[in-house]
Amino acid sequence: MPSLADVVDLLHSWYPPGTADSWDAVGLVAGDPAADVGRVMFAVDPTLDVAREAVEWGADLLVVHHPLFLTPVSSVAATTPKGRTLHTLTAGGCALLTAHTNADQAVSGVSESLALALGLTDLAPIRPAPSAPLDKVVVFVPLTGADAVRAAMTEAGAGRLGDYDSCTWTTTGEGRFRPLDGASPAIGAVGELEVVDEARVEAVVPRSRRTAVVRAMLAAHPYEEPAFDVVPLADPGLAGTGTGRIGTVEETTLEAFAARVAAALPATAHGVRVAGDPSRPVRRVAVCGGAGDFLLDELAGSDVDAYVTSDLRHHRAGEFVEHGGPALVDVAHWAAEWTWLPVVEARLRGELGDRVGTRVSTRCTDPWTFRH
Ligand SMILES: [Zn+2]
Repeated sequence: MPSLADVVDLLHSWYPPGTADSWDAVGLVAGDPAADVGRVMFAVDPTLDVAREAVEWGADLLVVHHPLFLTPVSSVAATTPKGRTLHTLTAGGCALLTAHTNADQAVSGVSESLALALGLTDLAPIRPAPSAPLDKVVVFVPLTGADAVRAAMTEAGAGRLGDYDSCTWTTTGEGRFRPLDGASPAIGAVGELEVVDEARVEAVVPRSRRTAVVRAMLAAHPYEEPAFDVVPLADPGLAGTGTGRIGTVEETTLEAFAARVAAALPATAHGVRVAGDPSRPVRRVAVCGGAGDFLLDELAGSDVDAYVTSDLRHHRAGEFVEHGGPALVDVAHWAAEWTWLPVVEARLRGELGDRVGTRVSTRCTDPWTFRH
């Protein structure tokens, strides 16, 4: 049977806590990492009813999307709703783990699960996560010294691209210089213009290794005053992770698309609210699990026909539609994010097989319970 630490490590390898927003509170909330985990339940919200469901089913770990504690508390006594939830879990021997904004952005995360549940294909993030920053180091070195410089640079961390290392590029040309009084040149003489066959060696460098690579290059270089460039590289925005997803559906009408959304999501009293002409063609679709009004400006001028998200408000939505933006499809926050639960459940089963029992809570924890 895996330990709680094993299961937490697995979940965190898929949804790294370091990718969560700075204001968020993710990770293990309660539980002993050394304890055995035989049963894992998944839910959107750590409500008291969800905690009871987990304990009654015999869960050793409850994985939730929304944090139980997002703001600091001075008491976890069972006199408050959050305290009662925590007591129910701990008294029942059930640990609690939150994967919130770290699960939103990831591959197989919340927005991707929502997009796939709605049948979107060719997915890309609305706002790609930044890649690890890279520089390029370019150095000019006499041909006889090029091997040593290349080796020193790659040894210090330059030239790593995906599953490759020692990636460098070399061209050759002529270097010109005149040593002045006080110089002790490796090649040439003071006061005389020198022409040397040189290699231009270049390699990408993780920004965190910039200084180490330049120092190693300078130490291996035969010249007293090597010529080199350090150039920061722009992010091409190709990361598969990031905020929201944009994808494509076979062309349909807004009305038919909204019906598809309603059928794909678990039923709620909230239902599916739509702003836009029902006959409007829909092909390009953006989605964002949770409250997605912060992406409206980005989507206003895009090629998106419809934007599926939650918690949209009167004025922002009204102005957005008035300005000719994509149609808006407002779905229940709980329903949109629930689509992630079967995905992470399947992923855990795929990794641990029958070593753990799993369950997805279907209890609707959307706060809206009925409508007239
Ligand atoms: Zn949410």
